[in-house]
Amino acid sequence: MAQESQTQATLSEGAGEAIAELLKSEIVSNGGLFGRGASNDAYAQYFTGRSYLKPVVVDPALPFGVHNVTFEPGCINHWHRHNNGWQILIATGGKGWVQVEGQDPVLLLPGDSFVIHDGQKHWHGAAKGSWFSHIAITTGTAEWLEPVDPAVYDALPADPTR
Ligand code: MN
Repeated sequence: MAQESQTQATLSEGAGEAIAELLKSEIVSNGGLFGRGASNDAYAQYFTGRSYLKPVVVDPALPFGVHNVTFEPGCINHWHRHNNGWQILIATGGKGWVQVEGQDPVLLLPGDSFVIHDGQKHWHGAAKGSWFSHIAITTGTAEWLEPVDPAVYDALPADPTR
């Protein structure tokens, strides 16, 4: 049976209380369930603001890595591509954004997922007024590009709701 493609999902209704907990800044600023990890200094040149990186699964026998990325409020990464690969984002805490070039920014709340396909130019990160954590399952080679136009980011709501 053919299965419908699903590249974006939002957490089911009825999870409201769990989401309320996962939006709390003191929980998200510590990385939530997966932990915050170390300051992401190696990639700081590709981010506006401070982020943290916690390896979850790094196994050379697997063709992908799994990391928990935590962004301070207002921190986003630059436009980039995952060439010859892909990336799955699974939001785990706080409020954030992902935008694929030519499309509107998409709000990510805990439990939401989003797929970035091979070579798609995109950026992701926190809302202005909120910490944000997502799991990133990533393969391929990252190609880092220019920073996001501050006017575009500043036009997004600081504390978005769905
Ligand atoms: Mn990415």
